[in-house]
Amino acid sequence: MKFHNATTLSATTLILLAGSMPGHGFDFNYNSSGNAQHWSFNPPDPSISTNVFNRNTHSIRFFIASDGYSTTNTAAELNAVRNCFGQWQSVPNTIVKYEDAGLVAPGYDVNTSDNTNVVYWAKTSTVVNGGMNDISGALAVTFSSFTDPGNEILQFDIVINGVENGWFTDFNDTDDPNNFFVEGSLAHEIGHSLGLSHAAIGGATMLYSGQTGVDTQAGLSVDEVAFARTLYPSGNIQTTLGNLKGTVTKSGSPVFGAAVILEGTNGNLAGGTVTLANGTYILNSVPPGNYNVRVWPLDPSSAANWLIQGQDISSSFDGADTSFLPTGNTPVTLAAGTTNTLNLTVTNGTPAFRITLIRTPVTDPGSYSIISLPTTITPGQSNYTIGVFSADLPTSGATFTITGDGLTLGSPTYDPDGSVFTGLNGISMSISVASNATPGLRTFIVQQGGNVAYANGFLEVLPLIPDYNFDGLDDRFQRQYFFPFTSTNAAPNADPDGDGVNNYAEYVAGTDPTDPTSFLKMLSTTTAANGTTVVWRSVAGKQYQLMSRTDLGSGSWQNVGSPLVANGATAQQLDSSATNGIHFYKVQVFP
Ligand SMILES: [Zn+2]
Repeated sequence: MKFHNATTLSATTLILLAGSMPGHGFDFNYNSSGNAQHWSFNPPDPSISTNVFNRNTHSIRFFIASDGYSTTNTAAELNAVRNCFGQWQSVPNTIVKYEDAGLVAPGYDVNTSDNTNVVYWAKTSTVVNGGMNDISGALAVTFSSFTDPGNEILQFDIVINGVENGWFTDFNDTDDPNNFFVEGSLAHEIGHSLGLSHAAIGGATMLYSGQTGVDTQAGLSVDEVAFARTLYPSGNIQTTLGNLKGTVTKSGSPVFGAAVILEGTNGNLAGGTVTLANGTYILNSVPPGNYNVRVWPLDPSSAANWLIQGQDISSSFDGADTSFLPTGNTPVTLAAGTTNTLNLTVTNGTPAFRITLIRTPVTDPGSYSIISLPTTITPGQSNYTIGVFSADLPTSGATFTITGDGLTLGSPTYDPDGSVFTGLNGISMSISVASNATPGLRTFIVQQGGNVAYANGFLEVLPLIPDYNFDGLDDRFQRQYFFPFTSTNAAPNADPDGDGVNNYAEYVAGTDPTDPTSFLKMLSTTTAANGTTVVWRSVAGKQYQLMSRTDLGSGSWQNVGSPLVANGATAQQLDSSATNGIHFYKVQVFP
């Protein structure tokens, strides 16, 4: 089932709605004056309230309605909101900054002229904004007001639809088939509140639609990172990144609404956008290097099943040209601090076939679940079956592949119309993912003769260690001990329990970063006739190596015995060579 995540609805009046032209692909929302919707962090427009923006800290201030979504999980729901602002703030090399301004009373309603940015759950009615808007069918909606013609964001409200949808907060509950993960939809809506429109690639947080469980909207993708670095760069980051622009034409005329996809030579997507009415596109803020570029026609607005239609980008792309053939790859090298130009041509026509549904990976090849949304797979998963469906896919003789490293793919098998689903042809194959496969957004490709179809970014290879806040420390460890997990106390170098061991070291040691008595510590050494027994504080299941040397200041550390796995709160090792004299010991813990 498809749940449409709403586009940014406009602000205060119908006049403003008519005057704003949400547009230009995944990246920006341009108004009719050609200005991208944005915040000015330094300095903001003089009219912006100090309740909306803290001019001293250059932070956007947000409030949360105190009642959250449920009566039983409220604290976690409020922290999930804070987590999402924290994730956006964590994008490296940007000036995006938030301030938790506190709570507002239950019963809030959207109001983009009250000088208060509020996130809240609608729980009794989908009619909001003083009766002016109905969010029925949406997971959540962002309402913003902006200056005209500057298009500087003045304030926003985010309303989460708790009337029609259930919400959960547990990141480790990876397979909740009924409820939506707060952080997925909210990371998406905060993107809107920063000026982003919808994405042209599958696994992006800003894809127009989310799905139940911890979905691909959770965790910002390369697309959102590029956006934040483009609109809100810090320092000289822009001089270290490359850009690509150009025009897409068909028979000499500009193509409107063509998706332009940028893929690293490793097969992971680096970004995507759609062309404006004049055929131009720009892909900003990607690491310098070698890429492939291709053009893909969005799905027709009349389609029964589709991956991304024009109106999924925004209403102004409803008239996107979908009548051309997808191209192959054009290689391009992007250099730091420059904008390369690459003009692309497409051929008029109707694609021979498209991919409109993704078969989610299953261990039982006889089990089928298809959805017009991205799916995920984890490194180390082996002998799964994955596939694609649509009304017109080939029923024999095609090549079926997925981009990128670390994949072992089987030969295609076919499920023609009627064999599994009426009206749909399917192509499937086995897939195994190496444990060192590069995480990122991969693409399904079906090819037959000169015809090709893509599902760009509709398979996300998940990272083995989740790191939504870009700090190098396992989110699961941070989520276990810190609320919100993006707080400064949760940072790798922080030592909130003051035991002299920072969070990263406690993570490696398996100790509790909030307990000052919990850290790796040498407890005793006892020398007897058979040697010296060294005892240290341990964590059951962790592996340790005792090392020694006889001079504290010089000489190399020698292993004492083999690595051992602790089975309790202490571990010990006998150094049978140390029957007399001075020995220095250290214990190494393995991650
Ligand atoms: Zn949206």
